[in-house]
Amino acid sequence: AKQLGRNNFQFYTRELNQVLTERMAIEYRLRHAIENEEFLLYYQPKIELASGRICGAEALIRWQPPDAPLVSPLSFIPIAEETGQIEKIGRWVLYQACLAANRFQRILGRPLPVAVNVSPRQFRQRDLIGTIAETLAATQIAAHTLELEITESCLAHDTPQFIKTLHGLKALGLTLAIDDFGTGYSSMAYLKDFPVDRLKIDKAFVGNLEHESTDAAILKAIIALGHSLGLKVVAEGVESGQQSAYLLQNGCDEAQGYWFGQPLPETEFCELLARSNAD
Ligand code: C2E
Ligand code: CA
Ligand code: CA
Ligand code: CA
Repeated sequence: AKQLGRNNFQFYTRELNQVLTERMAIEYRLRHAIENEEFLLYYQPKIELASGRICGAEALIRWQPPDAPLVSPLSFIPIAEETGQIEKIGRWVLYQACLAANRFQRILGRPLPVAVNVSPRQFRQRDLIGTIAETLAATQIAAHTLELEITESCLAHDTPQFIKTLHGLKALGLTLAIDDFGTGYSSMAYLKDFPVDRLKIDKAFVGNLEHESTDAAILKAIIALGHSLGLKVVAEGVESGQQSAYLLQNGCDEAQGYWFGQPLPETEFCELLARSNAD
């Protein structure tokens, strides 16, 4: 048993080293990623379930290092969050998403709400409200066209400064959504005190809908809860017609997922908008 323990230890050390090395490599390479224009935003359509029409888009970051395959945000956003690099990346995302919103508006002849993910550290930035106000002015985007998706882990920092930020963002006229709703520690508490407009139900509850009656029941309850508080309810991760039908049947307002459309590079998303506008 002792022998086994030792081997295990060596194994874990090697694993850990590998993880740390990779982490440092990512941190190092992230430093110049903005200047070198290695980031890009993909856009995934949001669908109004009742009409089947595109009613918005979520901006999702991708990283394309010059000599490596496309990197998922799941591999670098948590690191950028820890190192603080997220502040700079987040400002870039906001600016690019607003520029894109401007182009989408020109294609459609009306504004298309664009949602941006905001991470906890970014949310705690002192100058967040000022940065957003400047970005809106510079890109000539109406505040209600910009939606911020805030995860429950952001909301866990329930300090006076935090509440002030939320109200400041609302006062600017932005739309606020709780992202990954239902996966956090105390989702309900936030609903009571925070000025949010939308709930985004995490895909964990949607994926097994057909096979898990518990998930179906939870979905139904979240939709009803959201509506009784006057919030719009959006479901993410919708991958089948059956899931979409269930959500519509239970009054869910909007949906997003591979069933309706993958996240697309901006030019392809613009083509999608132009086609949908022609219908
Ligand atoms: P999220 O905000 O929950 O975004 C939804 C994720 O689900 C996206 O992954 C999207 O591509 C994926 N998805 C969309 N439709 C489906 C579907 O039908 N089935 C399944 N299984 N997945 C679907 P992605 O693009 O890899 O992003 C992962 C996470 O990275 C996001 O989760 C978000 O938390 C974070 N992220 C992405 N872009 C940004 C950003 O610009 N800033 C920050 N702070 N975080 C970001
Ligand atoms: Ca999101
Ligand atoms: Ca999610
Ligand atoms: Ca998320």
